[in-house]
Amino acid sequence: MNITIVGAGINGATAAVELQQRGHAVTLLDPGPIPHPLAATTDISKVVRMEYGADEEYMTLAESALAGWQAWNHEFGADLFHQTGVLYLRRGEMKRGTYEWDSWKLLMQRGHHPQRMSVPEIRKRFPMWNARKYVDGFYDPEGGYAESGRVVLRLVEKAKTLGVKLREGTAFRELLERNGRVRGLVTTDDKKIAADVVIVAAGAWTQFLLPWLKPYLRSNGMPVFHLAPKNPEDFRATTFPVFAADTSSTGYYGFPINRDGVVKIARHWDGRAMHPEANERVVNEFEENNLREFLKVTFPALADAPIVYRRICLYSDTWDGHFWVDHDPEHAGLVVAAGDSGHGFKFAPLWGGIIADAVEQKENRWLKKFRWRPEVRPARPEEAARFIGRE
Ligand SMILES: Cc1cc2nc3c(=O)[nH]c(=O)nc-3n(C[C@H](O)[C@H](O)[C@H](O)COP(=O)(O)OP(=O)(O)OC[C@H]3O[C@@H](n4cnc5c(N)ncnc54)[C@H](O)[C@@H]3O)c2cc1C
Repeated sequence: MNITIVGAGINGATAAVELQQRGHAVTLLDPGPIPHPLAATTDISKVVRMEYGADEEYMTLAESALAGWQAWNHEFGADLFHQTGVLYLRRGEMKRGTYEWDSWKLLMQRGHHPQRMSVPEIRKRFPMWNARKYVDGFYDPEGGYAESGRVVLRLVEKAKTLGVKLREGTAFRELLERNGRVRGLVTTDDKKIAADVVIVAAGAWTQFLLPWLKPYLRSNGMPVFHLAPKNPEDFRATTFPVFAADTSSTGYYGFPINRDGVVKIARHWDGRAMHPEANERVVNEFEENNLREFLKVTFPALADAPIVYRRICLYSDTWDGHFWVDHDPEHAGLVVAAGDSGHGFKFAPLWGGIIADAVEQKENRWLKKFRWRPEVRPARPEEAARFIGRE
């Protein structure tokens, strides 16, 4: 089949590689430059973890993804995935029903070996943490982080080598439909590209390109900070691995120092509804002050560290937090691969196979979970109201 993929983030890049390898003729388009500076994928790092509370399905998916990361490190001959382990600490005791407790229990049930942390242990192994505040939790040696921008570049290079037609500097405007079927697309510079199947993998842009998806997908901005600590040695992965700091109360998570001397810290919270190219897509005073408060309490040595880069990164959220990978039942020949809900990158080694199976309508257990599901609506109507008129 002739397949055109809209968007060269991680979903589009992995799908391009897999579909070309399966014998299709693939065109991949993106306004560029790749990695696109506004894409969710484009950053120095993303957490790769297995912890999903009591959700065993996602832990299973993440286990497969971890094996995939090791294979990619081998294939690309590069450390794209860094197995630093992931540290989850709480400001109180880990109690049944919390994200940390449920994850810890499930890890053990599935044969993993997370290490429970006590205050003396935290002081000894992770001295940058304020152990008067963070008193319990665990360390999982199997997770870590992936260099997301570099990963997408490697995949796009591979796609080109395999024969994928890359059209960087080209943007989708609308579908080309005839006799009740998608026949291709029209670009913003009025060029027509014929295709048997169009895959829209445009992250937070998806529902603006396909407006009938607005009730199901929303673009939600989260702040990301790159800090330059005074003593970079203190933030090496051995004593400062990837972390989540009392996730349900603070929302903060972060990464050890990278080769450029940067510690990245970001916040997962309610976020701000916005278009991916909106002027308001900048970190605001509230978000920055909130970070400083968090640092003072959690990592005193970072309290005044200069911020060398800040960005708002956009989730493509669904109402139930699950991905959205399926044929559009109303537009034959259109496949959507979006709805990352802020946690999709870790599954990168699996996306190509999942999206290609969707295109070829092959049996795949994950496609049931990520199916087209207009019946899923916000639990609270006021949640939906936050997004109305933000485009
Ligand atoms: C703050 C933040 C933190 C995150 N942290 C993590 C994490 O720690 N771990 C994890 O697993 N996941 C994380 N994620 C989620 C992860 O980043 C996403 O799941 C993943 O990057 C989504 O990739 P994508 O390809 O769907 O979208 P994107 O990477 O956004 O790519 C979409 C592409 O579509 C292109 N596009 C837009 N318009 C057009 C058009 N008209 N025509 C053609 N192309 C177009 C864009 O240029 C872009 O390249 C995080 C996300 C955010 C925002």
